[in-house]
Amino acid sequence: MTQVETTTISAPVVDDGDHERFTHIVLEGYTPEGGEFVSLENSVVGGMVNGTPVRALCGKVWVPGRDPQRYPLCPTCRDVAQAMGWDVPVH
Ligand SMILES: [Zn+2]
Repeated sequence: MTQVETTTISAPVVDDGDHERFTHIVLEGYTPEGGEFVSLENSVVGGMVNGTPVRALCGKVWVPGRDPQRYPLCPTCRDVAQAMGWDVPVH
């Protein structure tokens, strides 16, 4: 079974009408059965360091901040992760 690596990170609240305060799930990479871990291009850490945007499972794209806060888990991200059969991070 393929193991996936995910990171939860909260998206910033911005002032353009996007007031969602959720922690989203970002897929970092996966480990195929019998294989080695494969990391994906845009990691959360890379986004923090380089300012590159990450994409959450729900499709939200943003540049991760350095001081994430605790928000409820994004219901869309949770649904996607569950539909894929992945473990959902507990908050
Ligand atoms: Zn989300």
